[in-house]
Amino acid sequence: MLKLDFHPAGRHFLHIPGPSPVPDRLLRAMSYPTIDHRGPEFGALGLKVLAGMQKIFKTRHPVVIYPASGTGAWEAALANTLSPGDRVLMYETGQFATLWKKMAEALGLQPEFLGLPGAEGWRRAVDPARIEERLRQDAGHEIKAVCVVHNETSTGVTSDIAAVRRAIDAAGHPALFMVDTISGLAAADYRHDEWGVDVSVSGSQKGLMLPPGISFNALSPRAIEAGRGSRMPRSFWNWHEMLEMNKTGYFPYTPSTNLLYALHESLDMIQEEGLEQVFARHRRLGEACRQAVRAWGLEIQCLDEAAYSPILTGVVMPEGVDADAVRKVILERFDMSLGAGLGKVRGRMFRIGHLGDCNDLTLMAALAGCEMGLALSGVKLAGSGVQAAMASLQENRGGASLKAA
Ligand code: PLP
Repeated sequence: MLKLDFHPAGRHFLHIPGPSPVPDRLLRAMSYPTIDHRGPEFGALGLKVLAGMQKIFKTRHPVVIYPASGTGAWEAALANTLSPGDRVLMYETGQFATLWKKMAEALGLQPEFLGLPGAEGWRRAVDPARIEERLRQDAGHEIKAVCVVHNETSTGVTSDIAAVRRAIDAAGHPALFMVDTISGLAAADYRHDEWGVDVSVSGSQKGLMLPPGISFNALSPRAIEAGRGSRMPRSFWNWHEMLEMNKTGYFPYTPSTNLLYALHESLDMIQEEGLEQVFARHRRLGEACRQAVRAWGLEIQCLDEAAYSPILTGVVMPEGVDADAVRKVILERFDMSLGAGLGKVRGRMFRIGHLGDCNDLTLMAALAGCEMGLALSGVKLAGSGVQAAMASLQENRGGASLKAA
């Protein structure tokens, strides 16, 4: 509920791992008048954003844009390629992998969930060797798809998608490969074609810096072909009519016109900074954030250094400390939102988002808010995370967000 009698000075600090802060340029672009989505101007906009998204996914193949949150694009990936009763191999990395698996069950698929027992798997990346081993056992090719989450937003663990592709190839298995890069895209390196992904799923409210509301499927020719034999009931999500209409930049139903203005602006901003530079900035901010957590003497949720997320950092609370109580103090005292622990790690950790329109000083402000809030909550800190993060940012200029740096 908006409290109209309360107007805090300055900006709210939105440091959840998506939605990420929406830049003013995008907000202004969204305020342009809505145009006729069947009119002559719209086709040019449609063609531009569709081509722009191909560059972001690094694909030559079609990208589909839905007026839906990421969950819709998850459903579209499954519903366009599979048939009721199909077996799919999924991998438990955290809450979002779990929700995608639940969706697969709800759609009448038979997901098999690989992973570690309890909450152990929520601290590690996908193990490609486990996928290879399971696919090798499936001599009859009953498994129709392998589905993994690229950047697990509930934990701050990023999986090696190229390695999963190699595992599928090593097993000589024909399963389709589907990847949720809802929080990974436009923040961490992602290569749809080179990594042989059949369906990549993404959303607007993370690396692309848009408000929530549009989501994406990037396709491969194999995925489009699989759609012809798929018996899953679908209408709204159906790629085929979408692909036909998209050829001229139009959509089969009313698109989110004003969010597409924002997407157009976002694509310009990313191009101006450079996609590789965007990735470097995220890596650098992630490193500084982890230095802060270490200096506080707290644990990082991700246990595998090679899998540290450049997008968010999960901070584990000492035994007996309720992470949600700490978040509440930080929100009430410093007007900053942090991500809650979800599912199996509820109350045990919180998440600091450092994605999208973030720079050195926004991260420093977020870390200062965390440090003060942790101290106010009675968490004993080993040292100053703020000092450690400042040192990290000062020393590590590579990939700094300002061109002059
Ligand atoms: N997958 C991942 C990795 C996510 O981070 C999210 C949302 O945060 C989702 C799926 C679900 O997307 P949405 O909430 O936009 O429906």
